[in-house]
Amino acid sequence: MKSRSHGAERRGGPGARAAAGLFAAAAAVAASSAASAQSYECTPAPEAEVRVTQVWHRSNRCVPIYIDRATSLFGEGEDPTLVQESADVWTSPGCTDLELPVFGFTDQRPGFDPRSDDNQNVISEVLTASDRGYLPDPEALATTVTFHNADTGEIYDADILFNTAVADFEDLRPGDDCAGRLDPPYDLRNTLVHELGHVLGFDHNADRASTMFASAPVCELSKRDLTSLDLQGLCDVYASGQPSRTCEPASSYGSFDRFRGQCDSASSRDGGCQAVSGTAFGLWWMVVGLWPSVARLQRKTNFKTSSEIMNSSPSSIRSF
Ligand SMILES: [Zn+2]
Repeated sequence: MKSRSHGAERRGGPGARAAAGLFAAAAAVAASSAASAQSYECTPAPEAEVRVTQVWHRSNRCVPIYIDRATSLFGEGEDPTLVQESADVWTSPGCTDLELPVFGFTDQRPGFDPRSDDNQNVISEVLTASDRGYLPDPEALATTVTFHNADTGEIYDADILFNTAVADFEDLRPGDDCAGRLDPPYDLRNTLVHELGHVLGFDHNADRASTMFASAPVCELSKRDLTSLDLQGLCDVYASGQPSRTCEPASSYGSFDRFRGQCDSASSRDGGCQAVSGTAFGLWWMVVGLWPSVARLQRKTNFKTSSEIMNSSPSSIRSF
């Protein structure tokens, strides 16, 4: 079976800490050896002085998801039910009050501009060959970018990029003879559910059966569902009615309240939390082009665009 290598690296950066970007890339692969103790993992915020991990704040448990109108992954004008159903995998367990409503298509590209209140959590793809060069791992199947407070780990924004430059994705039907194909694809839902785990701050773990295991072969469907390990992480970190937990205790959260309540503010613009409609927010242009720029700068360990504004720096780059 075809698989793709998966690596992980971190690039620390000096500078004050506010929002920071983390690249988590997903690729299929055989990277890790068997580990003895298997536990769920949370993505660290490596620049924090105390050990904290990335997490959405308790007051920000509703995370609206948008689909880049430019991507053909989900088909133009097609019902984004596939995305909602994949998101529901993480929100349907009764132990959590997380919500991941899918708001439909957007013109906004992945990225984060701290000057803007219109940062959307966007699912997109690597649309050009040069985009691929910006990825921390050009062979990764997908990359999730989270922007978080480097001191506290609080996530403000997260975007997913499918690497369609190197892999074919398809919404496979269980029972299809996928493996018998000449060039078998990767399952779209399988990859998306895994990436949404990164959106929520979960990192890879050593359990090969887990949704958050670091690799996936073509045709795999098993990551569409959470294993007991993934469920344990979800229920621990985002327990209904309880403060969000980090795997390592955080001393405090930051005070960037305006990045919270995203579904409320999105609802006021879109007309309902469950609305599936296109959006065209006024400030999105400020973000366009940011992703390639950020990625390029990130590779140089210098997150200039945001550091000028928020004194931030990249915390880590990680491959999926
Ligand atoms: Zn991953």
